[in-house]
Amino acid sequence: MNTEIIRAEMPDAETYHRIEEAGAALRAGALVVFPTETVYGLGGNGLDKTASARIYHAKGRPSDNPLILHVAEPEEADQFAVVTPVFRRLARAFMPGPLTVVLQARESVPRTVTAGLPTVAVRCPIHPVARHLIRAAGVPVAAPSANLSGSPSPTCAAHVIADLCSRVEYIIDGGDCEIGLESTIVKEEPDGALTLLRPGAVTPEMLREVVDEVRISDAVRHPLKPGQTVLSPGMKYRHYAPKAPLILLKGTPEQRLGFYRAHDGEHTVILAYEEEIQQLRQSCRAVCLSVGAQAYQEELAHVLFAMLRRADELGAQCIYAPLPEDAGIGLALYNRMIRAAAFQVVQL
Ligand code: AMP
Ligand code: MG
Repeated sequence: MNTEIIRAEMPDAETYHRIEEAGAALRAGALVVFPTETVYGLGGNGLDKTASARIYHAKGRPSDNPLILHVAEPEEADQFAVVTPVFRRLARAFMPGPLTVVLQARESVPRTVTAGLPTVAVRCPIHPVARHLIRAAGVPVAAPSANLSGSPSPTCAAHVIADLCSRVEYIIDGGDCEIGLESTIVKEEPDGALTLLRPGAVTPEMLREVVDEVRISDAVRHPLKPGQTVLSPGMKYRHYAPKAPLILLKGTPEQRLGFYRAHDGEHTVILAYEEEIQQLRQSCRAVCLSVGAQAYQEELAHVLFAMLRRADELGAQCIYAPLPEDAGIGLALYNRMIRAAAFQVVQL
């Protein structure tokens, strides 16, 4: 299949016109990869079951892992889902933006989108290219992240091209994704409390300012126990993973440095905070990649998936990284990294 690439880093009128063409093609059954503020999405017509089947196939995704329905305005959620007062409050506070809310699905949503669940995940992205595409399509856009199933989510068009070129009709290149981690996913419980299914840039602390009770699903920090029901299939065991094994280190910067010196090798890649890079490069043969200042975890979020892909490109046989603190956006980092590492943590 011929994949058309639309460059939209600095969109002008001509670019918006081409995005409209891609939107019309999407409505008619084409697959369109588009940038969002979180990661790139692999979009298809959310009301067309053939389109969702094509999405699963292009990603190599198991069909028990549901897609998110993307809308241009939060008010549109009402057409596909049973909207509650809590949803309206969340929408006022965080939409458009990096929050996905799981609601009761209406009949109009194909069960291929929800992977057979009675619920549907709804999100309204803030990225202008994403919103223009959804408006032009005139239908909700079903989209998971635009990577091959299991690999790190794509945060720039080069990642998408590596994974999906010739599997989709269009790739819209919007440059680097600002946040770099997938959206926060929450579900409202019958008692009005929220359960956090997947942490993201909308943190539990932020959610608690809007909803009294926010429970964090056990699966955010821990592996699923045998027989435990999967609330959000994205919580499955190894995920977001590079090809090389990733090992996380829990300890102080001094302890990390000592560990790296003892485990140094040419085929090792170390993801390190900016403050530690200089000393590491002086004392280790390993490739050391900076993930920004420790106090600014947003930078680690922004570069994490790109760094995991980069480590693979460099031929890493082993990747080491610090285990982040699980507060604020750190909880989302903790959740992705611990899964990418298949829960391998070394306590120093
Ligand atoms: P992705 O954006 O690729 O991570 O895929 C969408 C994520 O949304 C997956 O991890 C799903 O598990 C989650 N998701 C979608 N629909 C639902 C739902 N109805 N209930 C719980 N989680 C969902
Ligand atoms: Mg994904």
